[in-house]
Amino acid sequence: MKLSEIRATLREIHVSPVKTLGQNFLHDQNVARWIVDQAQITSDDYVLEIGPGLGALTKLILDKGAGVLAIEKDARLANFLRDRFAHQRLEILNIDALKFDARLLFARQRVKLVGNLPYNISSALLLKFLAHPSPIALWLFTLQKEMAARLSAQPSTDDYGALTLRTQLRHHVKYLRTLSATVFYPRPEVDSAVVRVLPRDPRELPAHDKGLLLELIRLGFSQRRKQLRKLLRERVQDWDSLARHVNIDPKTRAEELSLFQWIALANFIAPPPYPDMTLTNNERFPVVDKNDRILRHISRPEVHANNLRHRAVHILIFNPAGEVYLQQRSRWKDRHPLKWDSSAAGHVAGTESYDETAGRELKEELGIGVSLTKISKLPASERTDQEFVWLYRGEVAGDFSPNRTEIETGAFFPETIIDGWVAARPEDFAPGFIECWKVYRQKNPRNRGALT
Ligand code: SAM
Repeated sequence: MKLSEIRATLREIHVSPVKTLGQNFLHDQNVARWIVDQAQITSDDYVLEIGPGLGALTKLILDKGAGVLAIEKDARLANFLRDRFAHQRLEILNIDALKFDARLLFARQRVKLVGNLPYNISSALLLKFLAHPSPIALWLFTLQKEMAARLSAQPSTDDYGALTLRTQLRHHVKYLRTLSATVFYPRPEVDSAVVRVLPRDPRELPAHDKGLLLELIRLGFSQRRKQLRKLLRERVQDWDSLARHVNIDPKTRAEELSLFQWIALANFIAPPPYPDMTLTNNERFPVVDKNDRILRHISRPEVHANNLRHRAVHILIFNPAGEVYLQQRSRWKDRHPLKWDSSAAGHVAGTESYDETAGRELKEELGIGVSLTKISKLPASERTDQEFVWLYRGEVAGDFSPNRTEIETGAFFPETIIDGWVAARPEDFAPGFIECWKVYRQKNPRNRGALT
């Protein structure tokens, strides 16, 4: 929309831009086209647009053939968009984007997020929509210029800080372009900038304790002019040997360290646990016949290399809201690393029974001991990696601490979202989980239905 059209439309729908909703509408069509082009949208994409306003970007995204979910808090604008863009591939939600359940996006094939964000809540929106784990493959934000500079900053610059590192720990951020206030109506008091954010492969960075790392970063930037030696005094006794080991100047300040150096520093203080692969390889599994009768015990690598029938358990853990905890398998796993899986799962080893294995795996992977009930037994097949699987369920009321050598990350999901996710992106999951989920849902068909 041109400036004159925006003015006329706002008059027609009796809207005067609301400052607290950050209502500054983009009227430069070349800029709008350029922004949408940066997201490289195709008809395979599902685009979440935050704050579509009068649809400056919405129309261009629809023109690319993508499906669009547009979340607009102002009912007058949401109604206007519904009238103007009645389109099969557009859904408009008239809610506060901060209240949207982003887990719904896992049930979509390829998700991109686009938004000329309202400035007053852009930090909260970033925190929410950059949270991990996320199914979003690309984020394209227009933000206040200062915020964009902080997200994309490099070490030893004024913009580089705790927010930069927190964001770059999971994402690659690129500052694409500054936008003058004149491209918006009404003109905001500050310039804006467009940033593109892409998810990092977790394997790009060395393993680390994220909680400790973020705590050190917070302390380190609490007084940016002070040397780290002083700020981290309570955490590091022998700062000089740390500096030598991590290869940093002993007088360094927080803003001088790259993300990799911050991780090295945290890992010097508390080395992250690495799985002991010799233990794993020395495990002996019962090999079974087609009726699940034990034939003999042999080593784990031999069982897998020869594709022999063996035994395993999968456990689904529910929270009081009836949501299921799914884990993303750790990067160290020899089979299906970084795929999503049941709450806990593992092989029956040695002379254990299925029940004993279930109790052990729950303790080892999630650190909990809750009573479990059996759901069903799955036959060994190619889809279960030749495992006979007993599937269990249990419930937890409080927090637990997943084992970081076993689990990369995890979260609770409603059953309907898991249904949609498995259907839309089966490649995200370890194949054994998909079999278990099918069986669980056949026995528990409740809560099936529309996702939104
Ligand atoms: N995308 C449009 C454009 O580029 O012209 C409008 C951008 S304007 C900067 C921000 C939009 O976000 C406004 O339409 C405003 O009503 C909407 N908005 C503000 N707060 C919101 C929230 N919490 N959830 C969803 N939309 C919100």
